[in-house]
This record gives sequence, C-alpha cells and structure tokens, in this order.
Amino acid sequence: MSRKRSLWIPLFALLTAACLLCLCLFARQRAGSWETLAARLFGRGLSEQEGLRLHMIDVGQGQALLLTCNGHAAMIDTGPDDCARRTADYVWSRGVRRLDILFLTHPHSDHCGGLEEIWDAVAVNVIATPDCPESRALLTEPGSWGDREGAKTEYISTGARFSLGDARITVLHPRAGEQFDDLNDLSLVLLAEYEGVRMLFTGDITQTVEKRLIPLGYVQLLQAAHHGSNSSTCEALLEDITPDAAFISCGRDNDYGHPHQKVLGRLRANDTAVYRTDLQGTLIAAVAEGKLSVTTGRAMDPP
Ligand SMILES: [Zn+2]
Repeated sequence: MSRKRSLWIPLFALLTAACLLCLCLFARQRAGSWETLAARLFGRGLSEQEGLRLHMIDVGQGQALLLTCNGHAAMIDTGPDDCARRTADYVWSRGVRRLDILFLTHPHSDHCGGLEEIWDAVAVNVIATPDCPESRALLTEPGSWGDREGAKTEYISTGARFSLGDARITVLHPRAGEQFDDLNDLSLVLLAEYEGVRMLFTGDITQTVEKRLIPLGYVQLLQAAHHGSNSSTCEALLEDITPDAAFISCGRDNDYGHPHQKVLGRLRANDTAVYRTDLQGTLIAAVAEGKLSVTTGRAMDPP
C-alpha cells in the first residue's frame, strides 16, 4: 500500500466519527436531552393484546392521564408546562406514537400546559374539549400552537361517545352550550368502560356538578376531582358509585394542601383505596378479564 493511500484510511475514519458525533449532537439537540433521545430511540411499541390501561402520570401539581387499549391510545389532559417534556417522554416510552383522541378537560394550565410538547412528540387524530371562549382561544386563535395542521378539533358535550380499541368512552358533562362562572365546573366528565369495568374521570368539577351525575351506579375507579380538593368528591357521589379505588393527581407538598384531609376521610369511610401521585409516583390501573389491578411506584416513572 502506498504511503499516500494509507493516510486516507485514518482520515476517512476520523471524518466518519466526526459526522456521527455531529449527528448524535443534532439528535440530542432536537430531543432536548439525552434521556429524551433514549426514550425516543428505544421506546417499545404499543401492544394490541393489552387490555385497558390507565396511567396517571406523575406531573406534580396538575393532571395528565394516558389510556391505552388494544394498540390504541388516548390522553385526558397533558399536565403543566414545567413537566411537559417528562410527560411527553413517558407517553413515548409507553410505545405511543399516535393518540386517537386527546381530551382536554378544561383550559387551565395545570391540565393543558403540556399540549405543545405532546403535539411535538406524537401524532394526534382528534382534540376533544368543551366549548368555551378560553378553549377556542387556546386552539384556534392566530398565533396559538393550534394553528398547526393535523388534528381535528371537536367541541364535545354530554352524550358524545368514543371508541378506544374495545373500550368505550362516554361524555357525561357538560351539556351543549353550558357555561360556568368557575371554569373547573366546565371540566369534561368521562366514563370509560371495558369488560364490565368502569372508570370515572372528573377533571376539576366541584360538588355541584358531581351531584348532577347521580345516579350513575357502581364505578370501580374514580379520578378524584380537582386534585383531592375538599370542594369535590362529595359523600353523595361516593355513596352512589362506591368506587374500589380513587386516583389523586397532586404535587408533593403543594401550596393548596391537596389532597384535603376531609376528602381522604370521605374516601376512607367509603372503603375506597386511595392512590396518590405525590406519594407513589405514576399510578397504573390495568383491566384484565374483568378485574382491575393497580401498580404504583417511582420505578414506573419515565426514564
Ligand atoms: Zn387542576
């Protein structure tokens, strides 16, 4: 081999290594962090065999829920802005590449602050939310992130139904055209049903709206409204639905004192098992053969 040619080999190797390094740095910059890049590269696919699974993602003081069923996925809220990247990473790491439906219960930042990040991470077929000026501003006003093409926006109300694999999701509140002084009371209330198991999602509604849901009958799992605030999770609702488990999404040592002791007391009196993101991290409920099981723990958190 000539001396000139032998010089080309290490030069070529050096150039290839430099190109690979640039590619890695570019991918990392696009992803935002090495952790996100790893989640994006190595996240496993969504199983078509799995039954209904609910993930209450630990997003601190806010709410973001992921529902998966037979290879399909939906979200209920996207959590606050300061946790958006972590929420999107979690969703991706669960194998989700497309959301059939993204429900936004109401346009408060602790529920829709992570919208843009989720939008960047996965495809979205439909965004479903109650109709109010604040929702329309968020989703349609010029300059808002909602200008981007791709997802169909539906303003939904009582009676609307959606499918997620073999699961059915029914909208119980609000009625068409209803407006409330307190935006929390406009929150979508959703009932998910799968293999005879029912889960009730109540956003941030207060007791006033909770009482309108009665009679609803037995519900195995309740998302306790408004992060466990005493203004929600009333006795009358608990007596009607007698939930086996309640999931509460709230931040550790949050400024509001959520969940309030009175709510925990009402749940205890009702023999409802309480699971909390502030103490147990991300909560996962799985339905198999008509039975509900719950797993918790920070080990389940995103990488
Ligand atoms: Zn909230």
